[in-house]
Amino acid sequence: MGMVTQSGCELVVIGLGAMGSAALYQAARRGARVIGIDRHAPPHTLGSTHGETRITRQGIGEGADYVPLVLRAHQIWDELEAATGTRILTRCGALLIARPGDTADRGLRTDFLGRTLQSARTFGIAHDVLGTDDLRHRFPQFAIADDEVGYFEPGGGWVSPEAAITAQLTEAARMGAELRTQTIVTGISQHGAGVVVTLADGATIQADRAILSAGAWVADFLPSAMRPLFQPHRQMLHWFALEAPDLAPTWVNGPVYMWPHGDGQDDFFYGFPSLDGGLTLKVANEQYDALVDPNDFNRQVGADESRRFFDHSLAGRLRGLTPQVVKASTCLYTVTPDSAFVIDDHPDMDRVQLVSPCSGHGFKHSAAIGECAALRALDGTSPIDLSAFALSRQTGG
Ligand SMILES: Cc1cc2nc3c(=O)[nH]c(=O)nc-3n(C[C@H](O)[C@H](O)[C@H](O)COP(=O)(O)OP(=O)(O)OC[C@H]3O[C@@H](n4cnc5c(N)ncnc54)[C@H](O)[C@@H]3O)c2cc1C
Repeated sequence: MGMVTQSGCELVVIGLGAMGSAALYQAARRGARVIGIDRHAPPHTLGSTHGETRITRQGIGEGADYVPLVLRAHQIWDELEAATGTRILTRCGALLIARPGDTADRGLRTDFLGRTLQSARTFGIAHDVLGTDDLRHRFPQFAIADDEVGYFEPGGGWVSPEAAITAQLTEAARMGAELRTQTIVTGISQHGAGVVVTLADGATIQADRAILSAGAWVADFLPSAMRPLFQPHRQMLHWFALEAPDLAPTWVNGPVYMWPHGDGQDDFFYGFPSLDGGLTLKVANEQYDALVDPNDFNRQVGADESRRFFDHSLAGRLRGLTPQVVKASTCLYTVTPDSAFVIDDHPDMDRVQLVSPCSGHGFKHSAAIGECAALRALDGTSPIDLSAFALSRQTGG
């Protein structure tokens, strides 16, 4: 094999999940000759971008460097909604419940409330600061402790990851992008003024540049010394039954929510309004001790795992929620040492960009990250400063 070679392409996008579908769409919009490749058929449930909902908010407590990305992402989704007639972004509001002056070590989310407020103030993001009583009055579905307060952002809410990927890929194809799904990339190399992408059947594609947006599989294409910087972690999503007829409208019409509670790493969860008329709520926590091989891990969620999460975080906080699991699934976070993003050139190939390992908080930025990556590849510059996401931040170099 190896005899089939396709050439004349400006850009190849490897992996068409959140980041890759966005990059492909933006490159196609600008008239580039572009090919997008995925080992599955996105949107699918085997990577990091499935499960109905992703939280979005613009006062980014993980750092002000992220705010320009999410501001632009919301604009792009609004444009895509208008172009495709599909619903992508639902601005139901985003609520952070926390203790003021919380000093617990939560990694990138240490002092999450303080840093969220700081980002919101710096960028003029509309928000309300809610005292304990205001919070209880306005959002009776949450059982708020006496020392907890709230940050509410009316323009926050949730994005449908499946709708976003579908809209981006459909528009990309309409604008001339070539899509190759069920196609595994096995290698990338750079030669002189171009790159060669090798597929599992031995065929090759020559292009001027490539974007590597392979999510949890990104390490397959990195030198071995760098692979430990991108660690796939198994995450779980749980849909628990609600039994609160009187509160059903409140849960249906409510905001998305994030809630750090105790002082430990496990003392955090987030969730969504009820999308099924008050029958269930989707809620989740985060695991940073569940390193897995993305090709071989337990995709089932055990009843004991859901129960432990319910007892530890949800019982006594979400009114009307019962421990009965209606549905559960797993998903992958690709976590860097400091949980920041990496959007930079590949360490060995300056015509290949690494775009994706986004440590569990990347979706809300993905439409803009794709645009920045596409413009870096096509024009050599990004409209948004990406220096905070340099690979050297992770390698210490
Ligand atoms: C449970 C969960 C909850 C989350 N919640 C939020 C949230 O509320 N808000 C938020 O902002 N972010 C959230 N995130 C993070 C966000 O979803 C991710 O950062 C983002 O979806 C990652 O997108 P990606 O494009 O990097 O990866 P993916 O979407 O997984 O895309 C990678 C693609 O590459 C393909 N691929 C891999 N290897 C190859 C190969 N060799 N050849 C061809 N194709 C290949 C895969 O098939 C896949 O389609 C969450 C993540 C998870 C898992």
